[in-house]
Amino acid sequence: MIVVLAPDCSLKDKAGVVRFIERHGGRLIVSEIGQETHIGLIGTEAQALAADLETMPGVAEILGVAPPYPQVSREYHPESSEVRIGDLHIGGPEVIVMAGPCSVEREEQLSIIGRVVASAGARMLRGGAFKPRSSPYSYQGLGEEGLVLLAAVREQTGLPVVTEVVAPEDVDLVGRYADMLQIGARNMQNFRLLSEVGAQSRPVLLKRGLSSTLEELLLAAEYVVSAGNPQVALCERGIRTFETATRNTLDIAAVPVLKRKTHLPVIVDPSHAAGDRELVPHLARSAVAAGADGVLVEVHNDPDNALSDGAQSLTLDGFSSMMDEIRQVAVAVDRSIAAPAG
Ligand code: PEP
Ligand code: MN
Repeated sequence: MIVVLAPDCSLKDKAGVVRFIERHGGRLIVSEIGQETHIGLIGTEAQALAADLETMPGVAEILGVAPPYPQVSREYHPESSEVRIGDLHIGGPEVIVMAGPCSVEREEQLSIIGRVVASAGARMLRGGAFKPRSSPYSYQGLGEEGLVLLAAVREQTGLPVVTEVVAPEDVDLVGRYADMLQIGARNMQNFRLLSEVGAQSRPVLLKRGLSSTLEELLLAAEYVVSAGNPQVALCERGIRTFETATRNTLDIAAVPVLKRKTHLPVIVDPSHAAGDRELVPHLARSAVAAGADGVLVEVHNDPDNALSDGAQSLTLDGFSSMMDEIRQVAVAVDRSIAAPAG
């Protein structure tokens, strides 16, 4: 619910409205939109205050029912927000490509991949050090050693690092090495983890759960933002459907729907959606065309021998070709993608 104050509302009346809401235990967010002051009320009890608020001095009108995720909603924050990592702006005019292996395996592997993706125009380096695997017998990642390698390749390439954190007790550790913390699909509703990444200052890349609705994704983002961290980007990575021809089904409509519902940047991961490297460039093109603010893609120097997700990892050459293709699409939708080096 949003309380719109009259343009000539006095400071005294404004304070009266705020005090009334607080006295009744309501949480609120005040935003200035053009000439208008909007007071957003959070929580289901908010509706009970509507009748009284409507008659208070200085109140112009009460608008609709609040979405259950007020802080990430467009209603409360009409301007698109940007996630900042150094001089990178995720959610600005440039479509940010984040690329690297599924898992960090060895120094040489990460270093080769990092250099190639950087020179092809990637702006962030991805790579998992803590891997959430379906089987306990699958490769689980190098842990802190993998973080050290990511930080070393950041030094070599200048690319900031995004890497997954799987447990609340690891947030400090991962935050010491990474520039952005990834919450994986399997952890989208790990509420303690969400609160923990919300209580620290590294930006968060929040992936959509395998079977989660967009509303659930937005509620998960609300956990992070309401814990104090507004730097969140959402990631559509394909969802479970009856279709088995692809690993998951890329919900491309999620991009414009999320853009309508939230001010947060939206990233697409075509790799986990496709499960097949030949399909990845097609999905990446459609993501950029649909308005994605970034593309998160898996790349490997020797995908056939990758320790995880080799089938969906682009080769180094394949990555460069995909970049050429999505660069053209970006121009067609008034965006840009960083040019290759040299
Ligand atoms: C990953 O990015 O390697 C990963 C595990 O992704 P997801 O959580 O989307 O499956
Ligand atoms: Mn992967």
